[in-house]
Amino acid sequence: MKREWFKTQKEYDRASLMHPKAQEVLVFTVEWLISKGHKAAYYITETVTTPDEDKKFNRVSDTHRTRRAFDVSTKGMSLELINDLMTALNKKFGPLGAISQGKPRLVIYHNSGYGWHFHVQLNRSFALPVIAQF
Ligand SMILES: [Zn+2]
Repeated sequence: MKREWFKTQKEYDRASLMHPKAQEVLVFTVEWLISKGHKAAYYITETVTTPDEDKKFNRVSDTHRTRRAFDVSTKGMSLELINDLMTALNKKFGPLGAISQGKPRLVIYHNSGYGWHFHVQLNRSFALPVIAQF
């Protein structure tokens, strides 16, 4: 993982605290985007969060604080690239996705109020203990 992949130092520092499998998916994602010629100022906007931060941002899912999720900015990506990335991720890691309505859902493409992004999440078997404070 490289510092320039991340929006700020905070996400970069905390990325190494994610489950190793989530780190693997993150590296795959960024390297895939770079291989497609997608050049961005940053790719990853969120990694591990604390319970207080989740409360502040009204996050209902615990996937960031249990260290098995990260967010990918889709700023500047074409719809085709967005679709292709979703397909590539699901093909390689889809079955590992967090369970939503009874089935694995690895990637959620949404705007939670802070811009459109991919929320990439692994299932609970990849959860690690919450970090209360940094
Ligand atoms: Zn997220």
